[in-house]
Amino acid sequence: MKPDQNNPGRRALFRGVALLGLGAVAGCTGAPGRPSAPAAGPQAAKAMRPSTYRLQPLAGYGPPHAAPTRLPVRHEPILQMDTHDESMVLTFDDGPDPLYTPHILRTLREHDVRAMFFVCGEQVEWNKDLLREMADDGHIVGNHTWTHPLLTEMSRAAMRSEIERTCEIIDDTIGEPPAWFRAPYGAWNRNAFRIGAELGMEPLAWTVDTNDWSEPGTRSIVRAVRAGAAPGVVVLSHDAGGNRSQSVAALRIFLPELLDSGYRITVPRRRGV
Ligand SMILES: [Zn+2]
Repeated sequence: MKPDQNNPGRRALFRGVALLGLGAVAGCTGAPGRPSAPAAGPQAAKAMRPSTYRLQPLAGYGPPHAAPTRLPVRHEPILQMDTHDESMVLTFDDGPDPLYTPHILRTLREHDVRAMFFVCGEQVEWNKDLLREMADDGHIVGNHTWTHPLLTEMSRAAMRSEIERTCEIIDDTIGEPPAWFRAPYGAWNRNAFRIGAELGMEPLAWTVDTNDWSEPGTRSIVRAVRAGAAPGVVVLSHDAGGNRSQSVAALRIFLPELLDSGYRITVPRRRGV
């Protein structure tokens, strides 16, 4: 997998995504004084409700897997959870990684909180025990493709293979297919939304980017979380893809701080629950 910080086009990509209206989404309202924290509006609330859609068979995702619940196709990712309390969501991308993920899991366990892990299939292949540990601890395992490619440059067939293979290895490993999908580099397009929906996954982006992939220093990561903390915020961090010791150290600082400040660290409701 190509680590995020080794991709020189990453920043340019984010600009491109924003210009397309897929990053800072039209129709979303930014929180006052918090331009980097747009709210997802009523669609986020919709995502929190159990799906009412019928199960439909889907070619290529057949037995022994149950057919995923096909969801309506979104045109933008969810950026923030709709909440009326002090809830926040922590997300960790690119893992699992035997060096860093166990530390993240231990810290979350010490504070008895649940988070979301957007994993890459090729990482799962060699770290299935870590995936089971995530599921056993009540964390949500999401799909982050197989090899972390730039989806916007792929054919539909290649993109579907990347995403579907990852659904299958997650289902095989923890006995449950993923209900959430996150495009690498936050680069979405129409096919990504369609395939995700066909495979029963909601597209989740983030509200606050800690920029931990660039190894900016533990204090910088902590500062980003402190500055962005607000009800419904989704925080992006990484537990793989490079040296993530700063991400591990930052979590040990900002997690107890958030809890002491009255925030409830939680995960969105699973589909059908
Ligand atoms: Zn990633």
